Amino acid sequence: MDITRSFHMNDGVDATSYAKNSALQKGIIDMANHITMDQLKDLYMKNESEKMVIADLGCSSGPNSLSVVRDMVKTVADTCRENKPMPEFLIFLNDLPSNDFNSLFKSFPDFYTQMMGTPLILSIAACPGSFYGRLFPTQFLNFVYSSNSLHWLSKIPRGLNDEKGNSINKGNIHIAGNSPKQVVEAYTDQFREDFPKFLMLRAEEIVVGGRMVLIFNGRAGPDHFDRGFPLLWSILSQSLNIMASHGDVDIEKLDSYNAHYYGPCKDEVEEHVRKQGSFELDRFDVIKPNIGVMHCIVVSQGIRAVQENLIREHFGGNINVDKIFELFTILLIEEAKKEAINVVNFIVALRKN
Ligand code: SAH
Repeated sequence: MDITRSFHMNDGVDATSYAKNSALQKGIIDMANHITMDQLKDLYMKNESEKMVIADLGCSSGPNSLSVVRDMVKTVADTCRENKPMPEFLIFLNDLPSNDFNSLFKSFPDFYTQMMGTPLILSIAACPGSFYGRLFPTQFLNFVYSSNSLHWLSKIPRGLNDEKGNSINKGNIHIAGNSPKQVVEAYTDQFREDFPKFLMLRAEEIVVGGRMVLIFNGRAGPDHFDRGFPLLWSILSQSLNIMASHGDVDIEKLDSYNAHYYGPCKDEVEEHVRKQGSFELDRFDVIKPNIGVMHCIVVSQGIRAVQENLIREHFGGNINVDKIFELFTILLIEEAKKEAINVVNFIVALRKN
């Protein structure tokens, strides 16, 4: 599967859209908001330029991206009232080309209404493309923001099949408790290729002293399986296995379905930043939102909004997605009743050397 062409969150604004099912991600954005805004304020106070060029990488559709842009502009406006003239803003919203940019554009009028009373020159543009490639001119950006996106790898890792082409991770769609160590290595290697590349590309695009705030999924420690996001992947695997046992999902298709996802641990991220060498680590915060029984339906709908399109493309358009996520909800509630589920997320603030 060509991820760059196929991957997108559920389009539009209907009941199963990302726009209506991204409360988990919004919660994480909000928990990180004070750090994002502090970084921006600090940058603005040191910035000599009359322009502030900002990119949101992996903006998706729905309200989350513009809500952060609104907070960014208001933060700078409030800071400059006392201190400096207001800069002109140039804001780029980036995502893969199949993202529903049109729905995002349709919410611009509401966004501008909310910004009324803030005197500003603000241009917003879409920038379709993969953040694992160059997106912007050299030394162009002042501030890069990315929420809930960098755990997506550039591709499904190589090495998940044996020499005959059979899956070595049968019954699983990601690293699971019973996955062979070659599976863990394949995913770790892909992240080792992708994350430093992302840093290197952004280092070319960001001005000296510019900042990045990266918010993405991680793991609690070196163990590849914990009761956070890895548990959610294993519940999705279980749901698909139950479907397969009823003949509703083709077992071979299930064996060949692999998520292009990796949640690193803190040490891995720190090591890659240090080795890559273009950025100084300003802050590293870990948040662990809890998924209680009352959140399970929202989380299940959220995962559906993220995975449905790839599931349909891989298993066929007629697959019973309602059923998969009914099972997912039931299994998730069972787990949440047993023991706390805490999904680990990192907030990484970087400064370009
Ligand atoms: N930032 C939003 C959306 C997160 S969803 C929020 O916090 O709610 C993750 C988004 O990352 C998806 O829209 C997905 O298409 C995008 N994404 C994943 N890999 C990408 C890549 N290589 N380049 C650009 N965008 C990517």
